[in-house]
Amino acid sequence: MKKCPKCGAEYTDATTLCPADGVALETADDYLIGKTLAGKYRIEERISSGGMGSVYRGTHILMDKTVAVKVHTLRRHVQLPRQASAARA
Ligand SMILES: [Zn+2]
Repeated sequence: MKKCPKCGAEYTDATTLCPADGVALETADDYLIGKTLAGKYRIEERISSGGMGSVYRGTHILMDKTVAVKVHTLRRHVQLPRQASAARA
């Protein structure tokens, strides 16, 4: 399911642009919520979203630390937090 950030209309995953507005559709809000990425990061909630993707608040399940996970909507690429800074805390 995808959603137009401008008019809020919902479309199937095969659709990339809203036919009414011509803006890129976002993947519907909670498809990642509650999922675990890379076997380590549990996604809790979406913090923000923009044209390039969304930022989620997540938990590192092994260290029980809160992390920010950036997801690029268009490329379906997940940018995970850096291990180094987390290990030093
Ligand atoms: Zn629209």
